[in-house]
Amino acid sequence: MSSFSDARWYAIRPAANRKPATYRCPFCDKPLPALRPHMLVAPENDAARRRHAHTACVMEARRAGRLPLRDEVEPARPRLLAWLRARLRRR
Ligand SMILES: [Zn+2]
Repeated sequence: MSSFSDARWYAIRPAANRKPATYRCPFCDKPLPALRPHMLVAPENDAARRRHAHTACVMEARRAGRLPLRDEVEPARPRLLAWLRARLRRR
């Protein structure tokens, strides 16, 4: 799915559904029983594009560098804030 892979960063959080649905993991393309603990992966934290994924698949994608987190691709944000705060303090 291109809309899932077309993202600069991903929000990842653990998930375990109460409803017995079966999802398809975007990494291995195999079925994923929602009642088992797994991960929710949202491209740029977009809930509409988020997918349920196997924990092992998420770990593997992270290891391979295919699943960057926001902090890893946008390190300028906290630095910019610190710079602005330092400037404001000087006045
Ligand atoms: Zn998988």
